[in-house]
Amino acid sequence: MAGEDPKELLFLCALQNAVKHGGVPQVGAVIGMVMGAHPELRSRAKEVSAVAKEAIADVAALSPEERVTTLQTRAPEMFAALSEKHEHKKVLPDLEGAENGVVMRFAPNPSGPLHIGHARAAALNDAYIRQYGGRYILRIEDTDPKRVDPEAYEMVVEDLKWLGLAITDTVTQSDRLHLYYVLCTQLIERGGAYVCTCDNEVFKELKNKKTACPCREQSVETNLVLWDRMLTHGFKEGEASVRIKTDLLHPDPAMRDFPAFRILDAPAHPKVIAHVYPLMNFSVVADDHLLGVTHVIRGKDHIANTRRQRYIYDHFGWKVPVYRHYGRMGIEGVVLSTSQMRLGINDGTYSGWDDIHLGTMRALARRGISPEAVKNAMLAIGIGDTDISFSWDNLYAENKKIVDPIANRYFFVPEPVTAKIEGAGPHTAHAMLHPSDAARGTRTLEFTGTVLLPKSEISPDVTMLRLKDLFNVKISWNGDTPTFTYAGDSLADARAAKAHIVQWLPAQATIACTIKTQEGDMSGACEPAVRSELGKVIQFERVGFVKIDAVGDEGIVAYYTHK
Ligand code: GLU
Repeated sequence: MAGEDPKELLFLCALQNAVKHGGVPQVGAVIGMVMGAHPELRSRAKEVSAVAKEAIADVAALSPEERVTTLQTRAPEMFAALSEKHEHKKVLPDLEGAENGVVMRFAPNPSGPLHIGHARAAALNDAYIRQYGGRYILRIEDTDPKRVDPEAYEMVVEDLKWLGLAITDTVTQSDRLHLYYVLCTQLIERGGAYVCTCDNEVFKELKNKKTACPCREQSVETNLVLWDRMLTHGFKEGEASVRIKTDLLHPDPAMRDFPAFRILDAPAHPKVIAHVYPLMNFSVVADDHLLGVTHVIRGKDHIANTRRQRYIYDHFGWKVPVYRHYGRMGIEGVVLSTSQMRLGINDGTYSGWDDIHLGTMRALARRGISPEAVKNAMLAIGIGDTDISFSWDNLYAENKKIVDPIANRYFFVPEPVTAKIEGAGPHTAHAMLHPSDAARGTRTLEFTGTVLLPKSEISPDVTMLRLKDLFNVKISWNGDTPTFTYAGDSLADARAAKAHIVQWLPAQATIACTIKTQEGDMSGACEPAVRSELGKVIQFERVGFVKIDAVGDEGIVAYYTHK
């Protein structure tokens, strides 16, 4: 145990730093690190600075080998902490047949921006591609015109960019209809598909009785003629479809001769004018094959599709990719349904696709969640097939690991009340921008007599407060009226009196600040220097991390990230 000897603490801190980085650190940085880890020393700042140079010189005098052995013997726990930093992330299980690289894809429908549900497939595929090397195809699956939002094409690409995925190729299925048509002709020629002109209800009845419809027995020639008629507008919507020959005796009726192409009369597709559209099972197989996809990772809800898709692979004699289906992930607390989101945006319930009540990537970004945290949380959930519920706390914990070392610290005073402090001369508080990175410097808060304090900290049962980085204040009560009096600088006194340490602001230097949370707004005031943090995540000490969203004449708007 290092004890409370400042020189020893400085020496060990500099030593650990030197072992880690190879060079001897700056005096200011070491002081900052020691003060950060031992706030009780801040009141002894002079004494600490006086011995710092000497402590660091002692480290500089040691050879690199001596530094290692000294740290090992004098502070084994600090030595051990150095290697803990290299702890491995939970690795995903191996994929069979991936040794020579993989081709994988993320295949969203462009029906809205990406949300936290999409992030799992996106991140798992990404991690495997990074692990094995290969190509990562973004495939926009837009062959169902009813599920296409023209704005989503761009949003999906932006969201993936934000996530930082290793996408190597992008394809859009509506650009590839001709390829699907050619493959359909080939499949008909191989006897693997037929054009069915039965009424839907009639087909359904026959299918449920495990009976073939008359179209199934048509010759290849007849099928080719009918297929051509479909493509040349000889049929209207509902009059003809292409079906894949499967197993009419399959126990699951949904497997029996499922449809592969349909006609849509008035589809109003934003990108193509077409009459015949492939259904997902056909276009997915066609593209997985044409693009050379080796491994498919998708949710358990696609298991029945995988079964259907195998029939198409078998008819063509194509190699089937390796499939992995992960379990369902329940996500609470945010809206994920695209139609519900759109309705809410249109009626003004939500401010846009990045409204913090939504589970979109853009809402998470607005709240200050970093893309790395999203990916790490998804990798921690992994690829298992057990159904789970998504844990926001785990996501926040991942995010905290990322933002905590970066975020500058500031004071925010919720519901401020003005307090005139008697008996104190001018004081200047030097509060650290980051408690473990002195090199960033300090914020200067000038006390000139009157401060803002959080309303919740002032009630008749409170007789003493410590204004953080400043001094202690005694509160005497005359009925409901408090009087605030200077009560010395000693942190030890405040501790002994069990005084709350509170954020405060000099009354003459504040700016209004609203923190938006999913539960509602928190209004207050903060340090004017927060203006310079626009777009960044900072920590309002004792309140939590927030992202600075807007800086205007009326003040600052911040979004709450997490504790
Ligand atoms: N576009 C499909 C979906 O978003 C994905 C298809 C697949 O992964 O095979 O559900």
